[in-house]
Amino acid sequence: MSTRSVFAAELPWPDYDAAVRDGRRPILVPIGSMEQHGHHMPLHVDVLLPTEFSRCVAERIDALVAPPFTYGYKSHQKSGGGNHLPGTTSLDGATLVSALKNVITEFVRHGVRKIAFMNGHFENSWFIVEGVDLALKELRWDGITDVKIVILSYWDFVTEETIKRLYPDGFPGWAVEHGGVLETSLMLALHPQLVQLERAVDHAPAKFPPYEVYPVRAEWTPPSGTLSSPKEASAAKGEILLEVCTKGIVDALRVEFG
Ligand SMILES: [Zn+2]
Repeated sequence: MSTRSVFAAELPWPDYDAAVRDGRRPILVPIGSMEQHGHHMPLHVDVLLPTEFSRCVAERIDALVAPPFTYGYKSHQKSGGGNHLPGTTSLDGATLVSALKNVITEFVRHGVRKIAFMNGHFENSWFIVEGVDLALKELRWDGITDVKIVILSYWDFVTEETIKRLYPDGFPGWAVEHGGVLETSLMLALHPQLVQLERAVDHAPAKFPPYEVYPVRAEWTPPSGTLSSPKEASAAKGEILLEVCTKGIVDALRVEFG
């Protein structure tokens, strides 16, 4: 690779242009949210983690990493504590979809034909699908039909074997992992200076009834803002998760992008 950084926005435009013009080099787009993650972690966990996964993957498959989406769709009570909580700063679905569509069509204008959205915030999932669908439709109207877009969330690459290894006392499920062992361990491995584990609140996994109410019933969310305890988190677990997920994502993108 003739370029110096995997981060697209760190390149002068002629280097960026040379890197993407022929459409062969994938661009990875981290997408997260500004969302409370308990007393022990910063508001940008969902941005920092997919950005770091993107950097690791980009180095292995010769891709570029786009500037991340730093705001995401509204926090859902049963997966992120809820959008009523302090610090959590979210976009309307239509705003996010529109921004995603704009960014996709701009990258395609530059020549990019392989795009992967690296999601770090569960609530973004269907809005990414919608942005991709609308962008591909608009591009088809312009006669552009050779764009391929992959959408993934890094936690979906955690294998059953790894879950057994990391959660010997039982796995609470991804939905209540918000601010729990997975995210905290990854943050300890990647950004330890941003984690204050001594402030982590130990509590049983949140239990929700099988329905939702709006406005939310604030008392359903544990006062800490996390949905399960981060107490068992460690940098060593984070290293395992980083390697397992990076490998899984690299393999998937090699299959899809060649
Ligand atoms: Zn999160």
